[in-house]
Amino acid sequence: MLVTMKEILVRAKREGYGVTAPNVQSEDTVRAVIEVAEEYNAPMIIDVNSFIHPDLPWFIAMIRDLASKASVPIAINLDHGKTYEDMILGIRSGFTSIMVDRSDLPYEKNVAQTKEVVKMCRVLGISVEAELGHVGQGQNYDHDGSNNLTVPQEAAQFIEETGVDCLAVAIGTAHGRYKGKPHIDFERLGKIVEACKDTPLVLHGGSGTGDENLSKAIQCGIQKVNLATELIVAGKEELEEFIKDPDFDKWKLVPAFKKGYMDRLGHYVELFGQKGKAWTR
Ligand SMILES: [Zn+2]
Repeated sequence: MLVTMKEILVRAKREGYGVTAPNVQSEDTVRAVIEVAEEYNAPMIIDVNSFIHPDLPWFIAMIRDLASKASVPIAINLDHGKTYEDMILGIRSGFTSIMVDRSDLPYEKNVAQTKEVVKMCRVLGISVEAELGHVGQGQNYDHDGSNNLTVPQEAAQFIEETGVDCLAVAIGTAHGRYKGKPHIDFERLGKIVEACKDTPLVLHGGSGTGDENLSKAIQCGIQKVNLATELIVAGKEELEEFIKDPDFDKWKLVPAFKKGYMDRLGHYVELFGQKGKAWTR
């Protein structure tokens, strides 16, 4: 069942659980995500980066087809859309949700560009995620982990001014692999949750953040957690194990990767409390 991200996150916020948003990169990973969602009877958000496929409209049409046939609610979100062109391509491709990430711009410009996207997407019934503060890279964690964090009152004002459906916040997580130990500013998160009232909140850089931190973030009021690196690494490790056998079955390479990816994703589905939270229309 194809749904918008808003439908998924409003429920998650109301009932106090988190939802995994795995990044996909091929038909196999899309199938892996949907199979996990069905196995756990859980709603799921599929995150897609625009650079991941040379023919994005085709790739999204394929995901829409699989998601429509799924027994659980699935949203398809454009991850880190940057330019106006990204937005138009995303809308044309059939995403049910779009992230407009202008968190690299000063506040006023971020508001102006996000508002423009919200205006377009409202008409089309597409939900919108934006980012305030800036979630950086794990490789630069010394700097990125403690700079450009989200200011609680600014987040509330941003939501008010733009009308976004959910907001990605910077509280000490980072993309990719952490260089050093992640330190999450839970006090800040608590204030953001309080200031942003009913608006669902998103955490980027879930990989490597740790079960304890992620559980606590969800308890504090995060509804969506983006996961890419850790799932892909889990797939790679399973694959490496599989090919250690010199007589490995060449037809089972992809299933081996998929198994590692799915096991890791399933772990987070359990941890975040989204198991059994699927609904039907
Ligand atoms: Zn991200």
